[in-house]
Amino acid sequence: MEIHHGKLYTGYVNKRNEIEEKLKSVDLAAANQTYSDLRTLKVEETFAGNGVVLHEAYFGVLGGKGGRPEGALLAGMEKEWGSYEKWEAEFKATGMAVRGWVVLAHDTNDGRLHNYVGDAHNQGGMWGAIPLLVLDVYEHAYFIDYGSDRAKYISDYMSNINWKPAEVVYSKFAK
Ligand code: FE
Repeated sequence: MEIHHGKLYTGYVNKRNEIEEKLKSVDLAAANQTYSDLRTLKVEETFAGNGVVLHEAYFGVLGGKGGRPEGALLAGMEKEWGSYEKWEAEFKATGMAVRGWVVLAHDTNDGRLHNYVGDAHNQGGMWGAIPLLVLDVYEHAYFIDYGSDRAKYISDYMSNINWKPAEVVYSKFAK
């Protein structure tokens, strides 16, 4: 966690700031899809930016006691998946099926809950979807403590969820 939050997360924040600064003076006339400074800055802008957003959401739901969410979020999950257990089974399995992120999100496009994924910070996901519960499954998130046992890491993550922030965000956006 120290390395994850102190070095990696901080790195995304710093690089995003550096990218924003460089975009102010980039040579627009040299824009090129194979290689150009503009292309590199634009691609890495969303890598760094989503790296910040996703990690803040990930760290933001840790430190709780797990269990189920309450109120509207639980009702929304039951409506979408049939039961909390079915949602959890899909969420955990999805964590074994991707290389970066699993995100329980409220999608403002269709007004429904989804488990979305990303193999990288700037890949996957849906524009307009609000992250509620974010799980980092990059190797750096668990390899030091769990080796290759990602399933145990995901299981421990589930036991340490603090559902409150997710419930608050959901109540703001879901109708
Ligand atoms: Fe991470």
